[in-house]
Amino acid sequence: LAKADGRNCVHLFDPNDPQTSDESENVAALLKIAIERELISLVFQPIINMRTGKIEAMEALMRLTMPDGTAVPPSLFIPVAERTGMILELGRWAIRTACRELMSSEHIRTISVNVSPVQLKAPGFAASVAAALGEAGVTGDRLALEITEGLEMEMHSDVLRCISDLKLLGIKVWLDDFGTGFAGLSWLRLIDFDTVKIDRSFLHDCVTPRGRAMFQDIVELLRNRGPKILVEGVESEEQLELLRRLDIDHAQGFHVGRPARAESLRPLFEAPRRQKTA
Ligand code: C2E
Ligand code: MG
Ligand code: MG
Ligand code: MG
Repeated sequence: LAKADGRNCVHLFDPNDPQTSDESENVAALLKIAIERELISLVFQPIINMRTGKIEAMEALMRLTMPDGTAVPPSLFIPVAERTGMILELGRWAIRTACRELMSSEHIRTISVNVSPVQLKAPGFAASVAAALGEAGVTGDRLALEITEGLEMEMHSDVLRCISDLKLLGIKVWLDDFGTGFAGLSWLRLIDFDTVKIDRSFLHDCVTPRGRAMFQDIVELLRNRGPKILVEGVESEEQLELLRRLDIDHAQGFHVGRPARAESLRPLFEAPRRQKTA
């Protein structure tokens, strides 16, 4: 996708150049440059508490922006970072940055950070999170780690041990994209998640009676298990209203707020969001 020319700039991928034909290798090279030159940043997306109408948390999302302003989506660079192991460095940086953001404003109750299975399997991960919290002087209960169910995570004892270490530090453990993988139910059985995020595809399917029934079944199942329920991908007032009727705990999506720089979100935490009366 890009390569350095040895001076000080990055060129976008030239598809005719045989040397750059291996996309994944190129993204890996790009990532290396990006880390060195600090082209990686975090944006944050607000999470609303449906009962109080307040913005209570925000999710950290990684962004890779080329010097010319081109954004490289996480769906492209995260898998490569996972394959090459670079996710370990990127992930540590993301958690440290999130902890510093928590330190900068006591009004921000919680920040959630996505973590890859590669991180959870790496020795010393829980200790590195503890160190990041300690450096920032932030308590573990303000940090949430989002884990995505996936085949590669299945029943891995190192992962389970790591998660229990994180919980001992008071860190919240959330299950991301619930319903999209095959292992979601096994995970619910094994891990006491603080929050489960229902994947946005289920909310979007609510336009049909069948989709709506499915969504309600999932909510019912989770409710009986006990974690807080967060619904992702809220794009309209109608969807927010549906979640209110179903007594959902938390919501997130473009209608609540788009991912943005931390500076622009801080004021949201200081003032309650005005809620429309039903
Ligand atoms: P995710 O963790 O499920 O994050 C939610 C994604 O949905 C984000 O995409 C967000 O911008 C998008 N989104 C939020 N609200 C809406 C909505 O209302 N409608 C629609 N259509 N989309 C919405 P993004 O930022 O492109 O991230 C994609 C994925 O990349 C994330 O999915 C996560 O799995 C991964 N990712 C992002 N940052 C990190 C990171 O720091 N570490 C790791 N390991 N993965 C990350
Ligand atoms: Mg997430
Ligand atoms: Mg995720
Ligand atoms: Mg998600």
